[in-house]
Amino acid sequence: MLSIEQALNEMLAQLPAPQQTETLPLSQASQRICAADIISPINVPSFDNSAMDGYAVRLADLAQSRTLSVAGKAFAGNPFNGEWLPQSAVRIMTGAMIPAGADAVVMQENVQLNEDGTVTFNEMPKLGQNIRRAGEDVKQGDVVLKTGEKLTALSLPLLASLGIAEVPVFPRLKVAILSTGDELVPVGEPLSSGKIYDTNRFTVKLLLEKLPCEILDFGILPDDEALFEKAFLQAQEQADLVITSGGVSVGEADFTKTILEKLGTVNFWKIAMKPGKPFAFGKLEKAWFCGLPGNPVSALVTFYQLVQPAIAKLSGYSQWQAPQQLKAIASENLKKGVGRKDFQRGFYWVNAQGQLEVKAVGFQGSHLFSAFIESNCFIVLEAERGNVQAGEMVTIEPFNELLD
Ligand code: AMP
Ligand code: MG
Repeated sequence: MLSIEQALNEMLAQLPAPQQTETLPLSQASQRICAADIISPINVPSFDNSAMDGYAVRLADLAQSRTLSVAGKAFAGNPFNGEWLPQSAVRIMTGAMIPAGADAVVMQENVQLNEDGTVTFNEMPKLGQNIRRAGEDVKQGDVVLKTGEKLTALSLPLLASLGIAEVPVFPRLKVAILSTGDELVPVGEPLSSGKIYDTNRFTVKLLLEKLPCEILDFGILPDDEALFEKAFLQAQEQADLVITSGGVSVGEADFTKTILEKLGTVNFWKIAMKPGKPFAFGKLEKAWFCGLPGNPVSALVTFYQLVQPAIAKLSGYSQWQAPQQLKAIASENLKKGVGRKDFQRGFYWVNAQGQLEVKAVGFQGSHLFSAFIESNCFIVLEAERGNVQAGEMVTIEPFNELLD
């Protein structure tokens, strides 16, 4: 059996980053992957401006008298452009351009307005006080976004604020999905005896919708050699990656194996993980291939642990972060057999002492999906570890946005 780390390393070593790029207007680029370092064409702010409503002053004027006349006004978008006579201040609003020669802005709460229209400054301001300097936020030439970052509601407005209207992105990865099995019925149709609903294709579709992918749904394949071959040939013509579920475990593997070996180089792995274990990975003539196990929980866990990073690599999402791992106290005993790495469905919380605690949720069988809905993390138990006693520390992996 292969460890999950070996399987993942092998996959990532083989999978290439995308070569092509396309350019999109910002409004269409959300959730796409940035295909070049983005360099700021301007300073932000682009001019010195006031951080307060108040008065722009020259310290030399205040050194002579704390009472000054008012030379004029500066508004955001409408700079002061009158003559700034000695011994005067400029009334200024937040965001307005700082008049040339000003040393500081004094907030209006700290001045006294006199009946004759002059203002008296209670304190001597500090040099540069309440002035936001040009380039303080972003300097012209700064790299504001790196290749391989996802474009989000945080990064896209930053680009907008720099006047950047278009962004280079990697093309969406084309992913063909299909389920295999004579027993499968599409969700929404009546079930006859011995049949089950095709959960996996639905799950995989939902997960792919959260990734920079275009989904090509090839439906359900009956366990028929000729149909199999035809479907794979079609799928690889249209897709960069083909994801199947079912038919990779012992018994069925031979049949899937013959065809996939005819069409490319696919490894049928037994991965030392639970749930999971059977998993196929390789290359068809024209597309990459991932074969998930049929059990719905195994399919979801292997997708999350193995296919998610693979898709990140293929779609150029080089800044993708593997799900964070934390340490938590097991609040109850956990059953664990030595030999495989377990990904138990868990629920974690912060206890009264501020520590993380976790418990396993429901029955951990790989065919039981129901426990998943109560969970918010995986409890990751090392292959060599046996049963866990309440109070021991375990590793948890809070679900990332894929399982939100
Ligand atoms: P297999 O890997 O094809 O031997 O399937 C293992 C188990 O998962 C069997 O009980 C299948 O009926 C079930 N299974 C396979 N594909 C699906 C699917 N798309 N949705 C739900 N269950 C499935
Ligand atoms: Mg099957």
